Amino acid sequence: MNENHVYDMIIVGGGPGGYTSALYAARAGFDTIVLEKLSAGGQMSLTWQIDNYPGFENGIDGFSLAEKMQKQAEKFGAKSEYAEVFNMNLTGKLKRVETSSGIYIGKEIFLTGRWRA
Ligand SMILES: Cc1cc2nc3c(=O)[nH]c(=O)nc-3n(C[C@H](O)[C@H](O)[C@H](O)COP(=O)(O)OP(=O)(O)OC[C@H]3O[C@@H](n4cnc5c(N)ncnc54)[C@H](O)[C@@H]3O)c2cc1C
Repeated sequence: MNENHVYDMIIVGGGPGGYTSALYAARAGFDTIVLEKLSAGGQMSLTWQIDNYPGFENGIDGFSLAEKMQKQAEKFGAKSEYAEVFNMNLTGKLKRVETSSGIYIGKEIFLTGRWRA
């Protein structure tokens, strides 16, 4: 991690909301990172069968779908970091996110899911 690096978009939470946002942001050319404290997929990774996600006629387990979402976002350049966010300073043009893995600086912050600090 480089504390001088300024991301266009820092996404807190690597659940379906986080990786959907990451896919859109990275595909649009924004320098994007997802900060996740546990594992990709969020609540979704706790279920063994998801039957209501289009494109998987036989259903898919949450862990595999999470992996696919992460890979798809990363294919467009999104980065992922295992980091627990515990504080943020959202004032000013550059936002500062304090995590268990250090400080991240971003122009935009996107909070997803049941985010907790
Ligand atoms: C057992 C179970 C089965 C389910 N089955 C289905 C289903 O079949 N179909 C369906 O449509 N929905 C299902 N759901 C609901 C679905 O999983 C959620 O709607 C979805 O996960 C919400 O996605 P999200 O990205 O908004 O939030 P979340 O999944 O809650 O993701 C938020 C992420 O943020 C991370 N986070 C939180 N605080 C911090 C922090 N301080 N620092 C860093 N990271 C942090 C969390 O670890 C988490 O990974 C199920 C849920 C559960 C629990």
